Amino acid sequence: MLTVNAIAATSATDPLVRTTIERRDLGPRDVLIEIRYAGICHSDIHTVRGEWGTVPYPLTVGHEIVGRVAEVGAEVGKHAVGDRVGVGCMVNSCRECENCRSGQEQYCLGGNTGTYASVDRDGTITQGGYSTHVVVDEDFVLRVPETIPYASAAPLLCAGITTYSPLSHWNAGPGKKVAVVGLGGLGHMAVKIAAAMGAEVTVLSQTLGKKDDGLAFGAEHYYATSDPATFETLANAFDLIINTVSAPIDMAAYLRLLRLDGTLVSVGAPPQPLPVPVFALFGNRRSFAGSSIGGIAETQEMLDFCAERGIAPEVEVIDAAAVNDAYERVLSSDVRYRFVIDIDSLR
Ligand SMILES: [Zn+2]
Ligand SMILES: [Zn+2]
Repeated sequence: MLTVNAIAATSATDPLVRTTIERRDLGPRDVLIEIRYAGICHSDIHTVRGEWGTVPYPLTVGHEIVGRVAEVGAEVGKHAVGDRVGVGCMVNSCRECENCRSGQEQYCLGGNTGTYASVDRDGTITQGGYSTHVVVDEDFVLRVPETIPYASAAPLLCAGITTYSPLSHWNAGPGKKVAVVGLGGLGHMAVKIAAAMGAEVTVLSQTLGKKDDGLAFGAEHYYATSDPATFETLANAFDLIINTVSAPIDMAAYLRLLRLDGTLVSVGAPPQPLPVPVFALFGNRRSFAGSSIGGIAETQEMLDFCAERGIAPEVEVIDAAAVNDAYERVLSSDVRYRFVIDIDSLR
């Protein structure tokens, strides 16, 4: 066992604290990663505050991880010591079900093993990336191209793949009109990726406060959803809407923005159900869908795509000591656009 520095939640209400956690001994197919940066995802906050169910405290969260390979098990063939690598939202799956066999491990029928708060194969609870090291099976370790700025690479492992996967699945590209609802951590990546895929991108945000940013990220249009005229102007306009907001939205109003055979995909996760009026689906044969991260092969494809196109998340790098303040700022939408913890501050 390796004892490493980490930040952990001890209850739903107390601030995160500095502590140590244990990492398992390296198995033959395991990779030991010296973590360099870890992104702060809204899911981390939902989880530690108990908003998504019972939490096995103490818990270290973090599923946007980049670092270097420090050691490899005897049978590891995909990664070598010194490689720049990443780990996202899952660290294992059954590998036998039809979804795993088709490269969609995120939809493993037995449930994938989450990077934190999941029961691992050895019965322990997985601990995430707000720590100096992690041990992960080589099949769930991604190659992070050196051309992606180091700190910026971390949020690709969740925010990047969460938006890339539905944009790719629903064929965002030239001739397609894509709207992105919300310009936060997920939304700003959806804009950059959809624009890089060649789609005509519109941002739908509560106000015009981040309009300059949205246009700089590649959007061609930017509308305030607080203005009712927006929903008249944009009626029947979009092939695809990516909803990144994790609070309830007026589903009828947004569905009516879809043109024939258009799809609204939710990647934000409000804790309460979203009422969907069926008549809004009848018009234009519209669809309402969800999407969850992406498979391992698709995550690698996303990293390579971002490296080729020179796109990366906008990040604010913080020390480990600032993580509790950062959580408050995420909750008040005061971040442009993702906090990333400099893990050197934990050593
Ligand atoms: Zn996440
Ligand atoms: Zn499976």
